[in-house]
Amino acid sequence: MAVSLPRPVSAIRLDGGRLAIDFANTIHDRFAVDVEDYIATPERYMQWARRSGAIAADETIDLSDLGGGGERLMADVRSLRDATYRLLSACIDEVPLPKGPLLVANQWLLGARQSQALDENGLLRLHADPVDFHLPLKRIALDLVDVLAGARAGIFKLKRCANRRSCGWIFADTSKNGRRRWCAMQTCGTASKTEARRNKR
Ligand SMILES: [Zn+2]
Repeated sequence: MAVSLPRPVSAIRLDGGRLAIDFANTIHDRFAVDVEDYIATPERYMQWARRSGAIAADETIDLSDLGGGGERLMADVRSLRDATYRLLSACIDEVPLPKGPLLVANQWLLGARQSQALDENGLLRLHADPVDFHLPLKRIALDLVDVLAGARAGIFKLKRCANRRSCGWIFADTSKNGRRRWCAMQTCGTASKTEARRNKR
């Protein structure tokens, strides 16, 4: 069996339009049989967090202090990712937010709030402790609240990619006409159009 190398973190698409959505989209082709988890290791999770802005440029988190906590950390990552995906999905489907995912998100929100403090510029800042490997999760939980509020206020429309066969990605449609259908035109858009042409023939 051919073993393919994981795609570089720098090549992971960030098409959701918001941090929390991109986090939910760190599973490539969610509905595929073999899913590719973009952030399956602590190193990749940290690289992705840096790339997506879940760790700010002036923040340092030192993974060398993680010790044997990697498995536990990745369980936390998967748990919040699953909760984020399910909460965003419920918002898209316009149904009440499910209790289990809410519990998970609320736990991270509580952690986030405990790490927040007002700074000398009057800004509410998330304190970045160099050994706080959960900092990205806290920032994602805060962004999730914002995304749900934005969708509720009609600032953008939360949608699922029209490629229902495999993609499963979510995005914030901020287009003027609100008619964006795909996570990305150059991937799912093109693939769907090719398939539609093939079916026509
Ligand atoms: Zn897609």
